[in-house]
Amino acid sequence: MIRNNLSILVADDMPLSCETIRGALTKNGYHNIRIANTANEALALLATHPADVVLADWIMPGMDGLELTDRIRQQDEENNHYTSVILFTAKEGIENLEIAFERGVDDYLTKPVNERELTARVHAAGRIAALQNSLLDMTQDLAASNQQLQEMATTDPLTGLSNRRYMQSHLQALLAETLARGGAICVSIVDIDHFKNINDTHGHTVGDEVLVAFAKRLNRAVRPTDTVVRMGGEEFAIIMYYADAARINPDIFERIRRTMSQRPIKTSVGDLAVAASFGVCVYTGTDTAQSPENLIECADQKLYQAKAEGRNRIVY
Ligand code: GH3
Ligand code: MG
Ligand code: MG
Repeated sequence: MIRNNLSILVADDMPLSCETIRGALTKNGYHNIRIANTANEALALLATHPADVVLADWIMPGMDGLELTDRIRQQDEENNHYTSVILFTAKEGIENLEIAFERGVDDYLTKPVNERELTARVHAAGRIAALQNSLLDMTQDLAASNQQLQEMATTDPLTGLSNRRYMQSHLQALLAETLARGGAICVSIVDIDHFKNINDTHGHTVGDEVLVAFAKRLNRAVRPTDTVVRMGGEEFAIIMYYADAARINPDIFERIRRTMSQRPIKTSVGDLAVAASFGVCVYTGTDTAQSPENLIECADQKLYQAKAEGRNRIVY
């Protein structure tokens, strides 16, 4: 005798027919059986709890077995689930079986139902449902892992900011948008001044604390729509888009620079003063710097100039 916790739902407008099926299945070890006398009732029951196998009469008043199958497939799609569907058909209905299989029915049984055949087919249908459902679970896990990998590939683990790889694709997309819609892109490279001194004096771990706090402060100093990335080491970048190019001015970066050096950063060895230099490049969609590399290179040169001119300043 097959002992099984397979969830089965029987949908048939003839109560006697339902009871015969239930009796036969129970006798053969299946106990998790629900009965519905209309297709709508079946759908309501499935909505509260899905089934592994649905046994449905083809001909029922109102919604028939084929339409019920359609609706089950819809529900399944929404719930990432697979239900095996077996239709009951009279002998003369067999000609139309092609249609039934095309519509997504898994198997059929002719009435009057033979008990051994019923048990065997329900067992096979349960196996199909189990396989399909484990496949759906695996696909879902795989999609989640891919998403996680994607995030890891574009995130800096120390600061949680986006990394240089993300910046590249983000800038590429912004450039296309600016070309199509107008507006302007601002790329600023921000480099902490004399950061090596912090490492040399207090150690690499304290240096890391400063980087994390600096990243957080920088991210707060800009608009939520701006993107802050860690380029590497103690070098960061801010990517901004302005629909109206006329609104961009050096004061914006002057304010950010002041914010970064206004207060010391709290670390495990006490408060440490920080300052940073900024190189800012603006792209309006009409000049020649049209690739992410060009924009970064342009901002980099201005940063170099800011360092040469004495640090803790912006070159715009
Ligand atoms: P400047 O004002 O010219 O920028 O001087 P600087 O000392 O900030 O620049 P420099 O390039 O000489 O030194 C940067 C240092 O940052 C050297 C490197 O060891 C350190 N560094 C790079 N990545 C990390 C990191 O992830 N953590 C820590 N703690 N230090 C890092
Ligand atoms: Mg530096
Ligand atoms: Mg540097």
